[in-house]
Amino acid sequence: MTTPTPSPTATSEPAPGATVFVGLGANLGDARATLRDALTALRALAAPGSFAASSLYASAPVDSSGPDYVNAVARLRTALAPHALLDALQAIEQRFGRERPYRNAPRTLDLDVLLFGVEGDRGGLALADERLVLPHPRAARRGFVLAPLAELWPLGEIPGAGRVADLLADARRDPAQRVERVAA
Ligand code: ADP
Ligand code: MG
Repeated sequence: MTTPTPSPTATSEPAPGATVFVGLGANLGDARATLRDALTALRALAAPGSFAASSLYASAPVDSSGPDYVNAVARLRTALAPHALLDALQAIEQRFGRERPYRNAPRTLDLDVLLFGVEGDRGGLALADERLVLPHPRAARRGFVLAPLAELWPLGEIPGAGRVADLLADARRDPAQRVERVAA
C-alpha cells in the first residue's frame, strides 16, 4: 500500500471562508470565567489553525450599568455566511444564559460580529439590514473593542472609520472610557 502524497498546495492555501473578528463582553457573574469559556466555544467555530484570542480587558460600563465589563476580541476563519455566524454567536449567548430584559442591560455574555471578510490589514464587508450591521457600528468608537482588536490586528483599518491604532488613541483620550488589560 502506498501512502497518498499530500497535494503541494494543501497546507499553504488558507482555509475556505472568511476571516472575522468577534467582540466579547460580560459584566455579570464571574465575567472572566465566562469569557474564557466563551473563547473556547468560539474556537470550536474556527477553521483549524485559524483561531486567535486577545488578552482580557476590564472596562467601565459605557451606556450600560453594573460592575466593570470584561472584554476580549477573537479572530477566526469561518465557512459560515454573515447571518449564520450571527445565529451561531446568539446560540452561544443563549447557552451562557443571556437575557435581554431591556436595551443595554447588564449581560452575562455579549458576542458581536465586529468585522467580516477581513483581508490582511483591510477589513471587510459593509452591510446593513434589520439584524446585522457591518462593520459593527460602535467598534470604531469603543476603547474596549479597539484595545483588544489592536492587539490582534495592529495595522488594521476599519472601512469608513480609519486605522485601529489611531481610533484607539482617540478613545484613550476620552476620560469616560477606562480600559485596562487584566490577563493574558
Ligand atoms: P448590543 O448592541 O449592545 O450588542 P445586543 O447584543 O442585544 O446589544 O444586540 C442587539 C441586536 O443587534 C442583535 O439582535 C443583532 O440582530 C443586532 N446586530 C446588528 N449588527 C450586529 C453585529 N455586527 N453583531 C452582533 N449583533 C448585531
Ligand atoms: Mg451584541
